[in-house]
Amino acid sequence: MNIGFIGLGNMGLPMAENLQKAGYEVVGFDIKKDVNTSVKIANNFENLIKDNEVIFTMLPSGNEVSKVYNEIVTKCESSTVMVDCSTIDINNAHFISDLAKKNKLQTLDAPVSGGVVGAIDGTLTFMVGGDQKAFKKIKPLFEIMGKKAVYCGDSGSGQAAKMCNNMILGISMIGVCEAFSLAKNIGLDVEKLFEVSSNSSGSCWALNTYCPVPGIGPKTPADNSYIPGFSSELMLKDLSLAQSAAKQSNSHTPLGANAKKIYEKLLKEGGKGKDFSYILPFFSKKSRN
Ligand code: NAD
Repeated sequence: MNIGFIGLGNMGLPMAENLQKAGYEVVGFDIKKDVNTSVKIANNFENLIKDNEVIFTMLPSGNEVSKVYNEIVTKCESSTVMVDCSTIDINNAHFISDLAKKNKLQTLDAPVSGGVVGAIDGTLTFMVGGDQKAFKKIKPLFEIMGKKAVYCGDSGSGQAAKMCNNMILGISMIGVCEAFSLAKNIGLDVEKLFEVSSNSSGSCWALNTYCPVPGIGPKTPADNSYIPGFSSELMLKDLSLAQSAAKQSNSHTPLGANAKKIYEKLLKEGGKGKDFSYILPFFSKKSRN
């Protein structure tokens, strides 16, 4: 099975490289011209599409994905499976899926969790919506790039799962940062709080695996000046997608709404280009009033 991969950024590049390492023929494409990789690079979409049975996209947002689909779907062979791994909103996921189906292509929305480290180590989790037959065909590729692929239902279900998951993540990161900021202010040794909470009811991924406190727990962006990782901008994007879905479905999500406001504030007040765990130094600088 030959593979085309569009979007060779922080996530897409290691994903494409892992497929190549596993023995697949991979051809990549990105609008930036200086990608440093052993993956063969196509200089235009025609060359990328040629002879490839699967086309992955891993792009910043729904705008780029729609633009790329508009350019390529009419040119693909009808046996091609289109797999979009970007995080985009559900309406966009439906739009690109309908567009591809009109051209007799099979589609999957397959956003991921696990961050850049997961992309490099091949330990991502894929949340997949769309054609079930296509899922069965692509599953071996998901298993190379990730540790788990969950079929969530019809087109858009993968994106739905991703936005709900990341709403939990945004809220829980804020909760962890609040607790550590409070601990420091009341004179509790933060190392002790980590030891307690990571082994008790406060434990969660944001604390145990992605601890926002420098020098504590596993190595995380906090140990590298909060260089992302997963940027605050991307977290705000995901919380915004969740809030539009909550509005559309009339769902009560007060913590999700507040988390979005907090990330908006963070980005206005020094958080641009920082990891989403930068909430901790942001809170530490603030007082109650
Ligand atoms: P990135 O900005 O590093 O990579 C995106 C790449 O797409 C860039 O190299 C860019 O040049 C390229 N691109 C943009 N428009 C293009 C076009 N029209 N044609 C071809 N290439 C184009 O972003 P990323 O961190 O790799 O994230 C990609 C997606 O994965 C996003 O939707 C993001 O929300 C999601 N995601 C990211 C993470 C993370 O930790 N970074 C984790 C989970 C999901």
